Amino acid sequence: MKSLEFGVGLWSALMGDLHHRGQGRRESGAFLLGRVTDTAKVVYDWLTYDELDPQSLKYPIVRLDSSAFAHLWEGCATRQLEVVADIHTHPHGPAQSRSDRAYPMIALTGHIALIAPNFARGPVMPKDISFNVYQGEGRWHSYYRSDAAALIKIL
Ligand SMILES: [Zn+2]
Repeated sequence: MKSLEFGVGLWSALMGDLHHRGQGRRESGAFLLGRVTDTAKVVYDWLTYDELDPQSLKYPIVRLDSSAFAHLWEGCATRQLEVVADIHTHPHGPAQSRSDRAYPMIALTGHIALIAPNFARGPVMPKDISFNVYQGEGRWHSYYRSDAAALIKIL
């Protein structure tokens, strides 16, 4: 499986942004935008759920209006990037919730959904993240700890 690659500054800026937007009190999330190479999915930018849909964080569970996806595709086209994963925060551990499993943000086989624990209170390391790969039909493969760290490269 292709690893997800981040520049070191981009990784820490992303975690800081997610923590800031959730104010340490609620979940926040983003789509990760990048390019797919022969060996990796390289992240260059992100668009947060509240940038795409200001209402999105008002619910207990993050949900996006369909107009948010129009903004997302427009944002990708402008940057000439594609969605390579999504990420959201959880208050405690990084395991997927029942609704995370039932409602992928993008329901395509192979789509990667990351979860950062502790509302992304820093420093967040790749081993702290859950790396979840959608298998279709409501099924996921999840990687934790050293298995997650092997799939997330910070360069
Ligand atoms: Zn969740």
